[in-house]
Amino acid sequence: LQRQYAAELPLTTVTLDGLRVYLYINSGLLSSVDSETGCDSDGIGLYRTEVLFMLRQFFPGEQEQLDIYRKVLRAANNKPVVMRTLDVGGDKPLDYFPIVEDNPCLGWRGIRLSLDHPELFLVQLRAMLHAAIDSQQLHILLPMVSNLEEVDLALVYLEQAYQELTVELEQSFSMPKVGIMLEVPVLLYQLDEVAKRVDFVSVGSNDLTQYLLAVDRNNPNVNALFDSYHPGVLRALKFAVERCNANHLPISVCGELAGEPIGAMLLVAMGYEQLSMSQASLSRINYLLRRVSKLELSALLDKALSLYTGGEVKALISEYCEEKG
Ligand code: PEP
Ligand code: MG
Repeated sequence: LQRQYAAELPLTTVTLDGLRVYLYINSGLLSSVDSETGCDSDGIGLYRTEVLFMLRQFFPGEQEQLDIYRKVLRAANNKPVVMRTLDVGGDKPLDYFPIVEDNPCLGWRGIRLSLDHPELFLVQLRAMLHAAIDSQQLHILLPMVSNLEEVDLALVYLEQAYQELTVELEQSFSMPKVGIMLEVPVLLYQLDEVAKRVDFVSVGSNDLTQYLLAVDRNNPNVNALFDSYHPGVLRALKFAVERCNANHLPISVCGELAGEPIGAMLLVAMGYEQLSMSQASLSRINYLLRRVSKLELSALLDKALSLYTGGEVKALISEYCEEKG
């Protein structure tokens, strides 16, 4: 069956009723970008730079980062690449920068760490900007944002990196688009203000689910409670796309949900038109979305949102798929 999905990949993803859905790949390894670009995705929707940091013995320097980011952009073949700034802490430790905390998931993670260490943040921003100097592909994504001050401060550092580089390289170039991860629930209620500051939003449904439900996504004791299909989580995801659409703020989903067949169908029904997923999921989701209509999915979504549990939601959509064959 995998072979059958793959055979369809060069086709763009359009639903039966004509909606174009953009499918991107999540990646973190240069080697995987190389092979990923062989297939026909719409680009890299999430490049997790922390993987590069986790594979080293110490923080990679500017030149090393520059070389790798350059290769990633080149491998993506003129397609957009969303590079996320360092997202360590929580479930992603760095051996050479140990963080000991009682509640790591509520602790020093993502943008919090970068803003507290501008010397690291600036090096990374400069390397990204420099790598993209001759292309329009780069989109910079800020992880674990929980307030507007963090966005504003990050943009100040980005401007600083940009100014420094234009002087040093004696070259003017365009500033890449900048976005934030929507994974801390409070930002759901500040999307109007977010829209005034950034160019796009990417929903981290893994962390958003974790924080909406107060369930550690990696704790086996409470694993069963981690459920992105919880009708309340689905309502939050629908609210996010509606607020972003109202603000003409492009929004995508790059958490696991986007690469799950039932998740992708629900997200398209809500109004999401950009999904980023693992390479392994891409052909399957492409195959599936080309055989459904958004109109039908929307009716299903209304039912799903009023159900009692995530299990019931999944059963409803599975039943629909079986009926459709
Ligand atoms: C997410 O939280 O959904 C996400 C994509 O980021 P990560 O899984 O890398 O935390
Ligand atoms: Mg996350």
